[in-house]
Amino acid sequence: MNLLLRNATYIDWKTLDFSKKNILVRPDDDNIQLLPRDDDGIVYPDTEVIDCNGRLVTKSFAVGHHHAYSALARGMGSPKKTPRNFHEILQYVWWTLDKKLDPELIEMSALVTAMECARNGSTFVIDHHASPFAVKGSLEIIARAFEKVGLSHLLCYETSDRDEKVIAGEGLEETETWLQNHQGLVGLHASFTVSDDTLGRAVALMHKFNSGIHIHVAEDKYDQEQCMSGHGRRVVERLSEAGILGSAKSILVHCLHLDERERELIRNSPAWVAENCESNLNNQVGNFNGAGLGENIMLGTDGMHSDMLQSLKAAFFAGQGHDTISYDSAYRRFRNVHRYLDENGFKGDGDNNLVVLSYNSPTPVTKENFIAHLLFGISSRHITDVISGGRLILRKRKIITVDEREILKESRKQAERLWHMINHL
Ligand SMILES: [Zn+2]
Repeated sequence: MNLLLRNATYIDWKTLDFSKKNILVRPDDDNIQLLPRDDDGIVYPDTEVIDCNGRLVTKSFAVGHHHAYSALARGMGSPKKTPRNFHEILQYVWWTLDKKLDPELIEMSALVTAMECARNGSTFVIDHHASPFAVKGSLEIIARAFEKVGLSHLLCYETSDRDEKVIAGEGLEETETWLQNHQGLVGLHASFTVSDDTLGRAVALMHKFNSGIHIHVAEDKYDQEQCMSGHGRRVVERLSEAGILGSAKSILVHCLHLDERERELIRNSPAWVAENCESNLNNQVGNFNGAGLGENIMLGTDGMHSDMLQSLKAAFFAGQGHDTISYDSAYRRFRNVHRYLDENGFKGDGDNNLVVLSYNSPTPVTKENFIAHLLFGISSRHITDVISGGRLILRKRKIITVDEREILKESRKQAERLWHMINHL
């Protein structure tokens, strides 16, 4: 069924131009039709009409780096041994959790992540998945869950050598199986958990499928120290020599502890950087600074939440004093994920992905000050409806594609099961 968003104030996400329009949206048609508001009540066949009088309508959001697999960690107790640094946070928390994930937990994590994305206006997710003892078929499970809720996606399995060799092989096999029939990326955990052999095999897959590598880069000093001692060079030099920076589809996540030479390598490459500043604050690994990295910077959530408006605000506020970030550059980073997807020909992020906002501002909202409203006023609580791929997935603040209450009830049970398994209660 088509959708007509009647009497909307449409904001072009690229130009921030405001116009009063009726918007005709069709499923599976990437383009939308902007029609005059004064249409004399024309009746469009097979069309659901949504009254958008007084509402703002603009392109929905997308997450540049997510970890659906971490969704059931929320509220989990602390590990028995307190992590003293970033490497121990990985060992005691995330690498303990991901080893216990089974198909049921993977599905539940993906479903609740997708529902949170829908509620928060994101219709596209770039995900980085790990479940070392349930690798085979894991991407298919996530894809099905995302699609059930109504999200588009760009998935990868994060291969590493932190578990037995056979598991690294399974990660690469899962990647190959996935890329044979779907859009996706070749995932690697990070330089310090990937041997030269695994790195080479991953890059070979990247070339075979004309894809890119999705990898954490210099999130902590530890990554650089291990690279220097193990490979005699810095992380970005290692990845660059392997050919990873040559792909415009490659995503280098975090990029905190870089020297000038590494920034130059990234700036002069077509590869992308994904900033996740709240995760950096939480892990106390340092602050992101986009200086010298070029224009290909987008924002992610790193699995902490699914709210890109929150990521935008965090990048702007955490960036004060640590980063060269302005209203305009913050907005560009927030929206750059669409440019990444479009320039690389990935499907699922066309103009028929929209968010409807009920934002009754105490001050005028204009093209000139819209970014300030995004930073200081508009939040996810203003989102009333979300359209993904031309179809409604959130209507009047209710997810209409799945039974949210039932899923949350089940996910609480599954979360308890997971916490018992890893003894984090
Ligand atoms: Zn991450």
